[in-house]
Amino acid sequence: MVDWRTLQQTLQNLEGSSYRNYKRIKGHYECFGFNDEFELLVDYVQGDPFASPSRIRIRLNSESAGFSPQLIAHYENQVAIADYLTRQVANVVLSLRKKRGSGNSGKIEIATPSQAILRRTAIRIDKREIEVRLTVGLPAFGRRIAGIAAAELLCEDIPQIIENSLTYRALEADALMQHIHTFQDAEALRRQLKPNRLVAFVADGACLPRRSGIDKRPLTEGVEPFIAPAAGAVELETPHSGKVRGLGVQAGVTLIVGGGYHGKSTLLRAIEQGIYSHVPGDGREQVVSIPSAVKLRAEDGRSVAGVDISPAINHLPQGRASDNFSTANASGSTSQAAGLVEAVEVGAEAILIDEDTAATNFMIRDCNMQALISKENEPITPFVDKVRQLYDDYGISTVLVMGGSGDYFAVADRVIAMENYRPQIVTQQAKVIARADPNQRNAEGGERFGSIRQRAMLSGSVPAGKRDRIPKIKSRMDALTLGQETIDLQAVEQLVEVHQVRAIGQAILYAQQYYCDGRRSLRQILELVMEDIERNGLDTLAIGLDTENPRISGDLAKFRQFELAAAINRLRTLRVNPIY
Ligand code: ADP
Ligand code: MG
Repeated sequence: MVDWRTLQQTLQNLEGSSYRNYKRIKGHYECFGFNDEFELLVDYVQGDPFASPSRIRIRLNSESAGFSPQLIAHYENQVAIADYLTRQVANVVLSLRKKRGSGNSGKIEIATPSQAILRRTAIRIDKREIEVRLTVGLPAFGRRIAGIAAAELLCEDIPQIIENSLTYRALEADALMQHIHTFQDAEALRRQLKPNRLVAFVADGACLPRRSGIDKRPLTEGVEPFIAPAAGAVELETPHSGKVRGLGVQAGVTLIVGGGYHGKSTLLRAIEQGIYSHVPGDGREQVVSIPSAVKLRAEDGRSVAGVDISPAINHLPQGRASDNFSTANASGSTSQAAGLVEAVEVGAEAILIDEDTAATNFMIRDCNMQALISKENEPITPFVDKVRQLYDDYGISTVLVMGGSGDYFAVADRVIAMENYRPQIVTQQAKVIARADPNQRNAEGGERFGSIRQRAMLSGSVPAGKRDRIPKIKSRMDALTLGQETIDLQAVEQLVEVHQVRAIGQAILYAQQYYCDGRRSLRQILELVMEDIERNGLDTLAIGLDTENPRISGDLAKFRQFELAAAINRLRTLRVNPIY
């Protein structure tokens, strides 16, 4: 380890020299900040001022930063504290940026968190140390090194970040404890769902609406707080807030009905996002769902590789196979059928559907249509005729928003009506209406849901990089690019951070490198990848991909096997074999 006065000196001496001389500062430094010693690791140095920024790490001793061993003993606390610290660092970095001016040169960044409290590689804390990963744009004038500015950045700004955001004394202890307790309460609520035969829970007082489609913070004005009706209310226990009352969404088939603009989609979206625990002040702190709840929507134009969609679709025109269905351009209904089977294939236990984003012909087929178009000429078995079988055969629940058709009344276990953003239980009324319906439709779904076939993922499904190198990963919230291939993720609605997308990109390459042998099923492969991450952390992906020179980075966040599967299934180069 090098004393960091040497680093300071080196940087100052580099003033005005060619930018690539920055490469010399790659290394490991022992540093002295305001009060604390810490280590600085310069992992990657950018080749020019416009390239992706340099990556550094800071390590300091947890105890000397003031975090008591009891506080960080538990894994859950570690996740919550790391998440809290990441937000603190993001704030301090923002205030420093105002001081140093804009532009990439001199810019310090940390992976920005969403409203979810997530495991990320940006900050890790354990009993021994806190490790923070940042990117920095090493300062330049044109293509020359601004060494004095660089020395200030690394030797003054970094200590300031540590002092103001990473030491216990600089933090508001109450806010930190609230962050931890909020997380623990949500995790505790989520653990109680399955034992209580629930798929989701929405606490009284929750604020579900968001500010806008692109601003996921809570709506603040004119919000009607969520209140569970007596008929649907349950009470769950939390470690820090005692008993919490709220709406229990039971296992089985649940319908959310109600007039337009009365809050149906908002409720479903909150349930979708209930797979994550949210930060204090989010409004959804006590809105939780089972971790295997998967949003399903139509996505015409997507590709599908070798999916057995025969439970929902049969005898396609021109004799196209539906038990091994592939297309580069799915229709609304076939995309939704494929999405359903793909989710079940990798272990979904609840399916969430909103009429706003569903294919009508996948969802319903009313009696008039049955009279006009015979079953023989309709490949689609509407979901209304399969939703019960899905639960009865596989124990997979469905939560469905359906304001435009009463056809589901007959098959629902529970009907929730949203009225002025207030839920009511209207199951009995709906059942009476369904029984009295003079336009009875014929059930077309048969006794059973149908078998769900596993698929083996073939090696070569994932694009290779140039000259045998690892393909370049580019991540955006709505798209993941691996080498030359771009995966459209717009319809994968339960992703909340671009850092998850990047991690999924690495996971796909990692899966290809270690587990795709042409025989293992996609599900087995995903389980192996997820186990490796669970055991060794997200860094295991980068280390696995390049053991010599891993890309250690702070821009990864935890994701589920469902989103990983969704990305793989949308890969246009995916090749599979059915496993019989
Ligand atoms: P629906 O799906 O029933 O047509 P939405 O869920 O899309 O209705 O909600 C319509 C509008 O009402 C949205 O702009 C949403 O943000 C807002 N909204 C939803 N729930 C509430 C609430 N509890 N309080 C205030 N506004 C809400
Ligand atoms: Mg809606």
